[in-house]
Amino acid sequence: MNCLGTNVRGEPCGAMVVGDDGYCAAHREGAADRLREASMLGGAATRAKNQTAGFRAGELPVLSDHASVKGNIEAGLNALAERRISHHELVAHIKGCETWLKVDSAQQTAKLITELQRELERAKRECDTLRKQLAERPSPFRTTRSVAP
Ligand SMILES: [Zn+2]
Repeated sequence: MNCLGTNVRGEPCGAMVVGDDGYCAAHREGAADRLREASMLGGAATRAKNQTAGFRAGELPVLSDHASVKGNIEAGLNALAERRISHHELVAHIKGCETWLKVDSAQQTAKLITELQRELERAKRECDTLRKQLAERPSPFRTTRSVAP
């Protein structure tokens, strides 16, 4: 038996009747409410499935050197293996570690440049001092001895 309801175009529904009221599951009384409820349950199930425990406060080592970066990456991989974080969360976590390494590298380079500039300035001053001392020394080519006639 076909449903007594009509579709959005006003045509007979045609779906199989469920129960004894002559309507299909979509057209039975309260069907809209049941559909909305099922949809909400589906959304909650999806959220629950995507919800991960994540990292606990203080679980991750503070990023301070390369060993701590390594520790953070290992903690991320373990959390993924234990299904505490999602693949996307691991990617974001590792991206954070990479960013820290880039910033650290830039800081190290800036520090090295500053040190080299100071060393260069010291070497320049030493050269100036040596040049001055050399200029003040009596020349070995200027003699006080008179040349014989
Ligand atoms: Zn119907």
